[in-house]
Amino acid sequence: MTDIQLKAIKVWGKESQIKKTIEELAELIAALSKYQLYEVEKRHDKRILIKDISNEIADTEIMIEQIKHILKIENNVEICKKYKLKRLTEFLNKSSH
Ligand SMILES: [Mg+2]
Repeated sequence: MTDIQLKAIKVWGKESQIKKTIEELAELIAALSKYQLYEVEKRHDKRILIKDISNEIADTEIMIEQIKHILKIENNVEICKKYKLKRLTEFLNKSSH
């Protein structure tokens, strides 16, 4: 969490940052959906699609860091990630004979 992210929470408020996170997630969904269409139709410029996805991932990561701070769940998220990655590892090790 950077000082500028803390300032953003202070200036715009928690509710606004939650709303902004939802908007950024929707933009990432749209960018990924466009990429899926590209894979089928090849109608767009792939470099632009990749650039859009990169931008939207950056936006969402910046906002998600703020949400974790606002809700004070940084440690919980780390615990959840470790658990889920462990579970995924176990599942993949079991299913790859
Ligand atoms: Mg965005």
